[in-house]
Amino acid sequence: MNYDPSSEIRHIAIILVISLFVGFTIDALAWTLVISLSGYIIWNLRQLFRLYHWLKKDGFSDPPDSHGLWGTTFDHIYKLQQNQLKYRARLKRVIKRFRDSTFALKEGFVMLDEHGNIDWWNPAAEKILGLRAPFDSNQLITNLIRHPKFISYFESDDHDRALEISSPLNTDITLEFQITRFGKQDHLIVVRDITELKQLDNMRTDFVANVSHELRTPLTVIDGYLETMTDNIETLSPPWHKPVRQMSEQTRRMSTLINDLLLLSRIESRNNTARQAPIDIGSIINSIRSDLSSLLAEKQQNISIELTSNKQLLGPKDQAYSLISNLITNASKYSGDGASIKVTWQDDSTGAQLSIEDNGIGIAPLDIPRLTERFYRVDRGRAQAIKGTGLGLAIVKHVLINLDGTLDIESKIGVGSAFSCRFPGHRLQELKQQAS
Ligand code: ADP
Repeated sequence: MNYDPSSEIRHIAIILVISLFVGFTIDALAWTLVISLSGYIIWNLRQLFRLYHWLKKDGFSDPPDSHGLWGTTFDHIYKLQQNQLKYRARLKRVIKRFRDSTFALKEGFVMLDEHGNIDWWNPAAEKILGLRAPFDSNQLITNLIRHPKFISYFESDDHDRALEISSPLNTDITLEFQITRFGKQDHLIVVRDITELKQLDNMRTDFVANVSHELRTPLTVIDGYLETMTDNIETLSPPWHKPVRQMSEQTRRMSTLINDLLLLSRIESRNNTARQAPIDIGSIINSIRSDLSSLLAEKQQNISIELTSNKQLLGPKDQAYSLISNLITNASKYSGDGASIKVTWQDDSTGAQLSIEDNGIGIAPLDIPRLTERFYRVDRGRAQAIKGTGLGLAIVKHVLINLDGTLDIESKIGVGSAFSCRFPGHRLQELKQQAS
């Protein structure tokens, strides 16, 4: 197949030499040359026509028989066409496998072009979203899923978190949407039915809330009696002094735990429609400082407050209080005597930020991602000495979810920690003079 194109020049040279020889011999040089060169041109034209007809037919059938440069050219084109055929067959197989796998998936997949028009979807998306072929093809997705939360999620650039909304077909069904961008601003939407998961989660939350609620009354009674006994400890015989004090302390721990569990389930509760009342962050921080004054005085800790933003936060005030209170209490609890705590509230063009910084014991990098898990406490041995339920940062996390905020934690062992809560612009409003 490795044909040397220079041999074509050799062929022409041989034709010319033979023509010259014959021309001289028969004494008709010019005619001999004209006849032999015309023959060569006609032969080449014939090959060109054969190539044209072959390509016009399909270009995939066996190539015309030829030799020399033309034969090699036919063979090369034939080989290219065969490779193309193989490539197409492979592509078809891949597309078929992709289609078969997406057809088998329970998750719905919807592919959109850069304008948000629907290009393609799998049968699960048809079932979950009620898409109908061919009517919904090329339709704007926001014309079919009109939920305001979906529209703002779709139009926003932040698709890190999935969106949970009720189904456009049945409000009893909860759907989770996750958008991924690819190519030239094309979108892939993955949608799944999470109704069962949601129900299980609600059952768990309800169960914890019910148990905590039922335990609260007997605990209050026990705590009341134990408090009376500790107040009048001298009336009890000495061997009872230590057990009564320990029982009283543990009962108070259980009460704190139950109160935190109840608070967490209230914050998590699905009918927790965050009230949009404007909250004056500065006044909350100040009232928490005075609530914690005895703890701060006991540890001789100093708390500085910097309020550079005049923005108010929109949301439930009690939840904002729990959030800030948990973060400031932690800063105090996990810092030594004489430590400094700095609380700042500032804003910029994209939102506002509440930061609580301390120069306390710090947290190891490995622990940071797990801090907001329920009951997660760093180094249980050390944590035993500092009282806590391990629920404080879980409460912080859920309040931030309700307020569309995010939490950023920076910490270094032995240097200190900074907990920063970021709130988006739509959760803020200018501070009014007469804030409630
Ligand atoms: P806890 O009731 O134990 O304080 P949290 O959920 O509030 O529970 O905090 C979880 C863990 O995170 C704590 O046990 C502590 O180890 C760590 N932690 C939280 N805040 C700080 C802080 N400011 N400095 C150091 N460690 C902290």
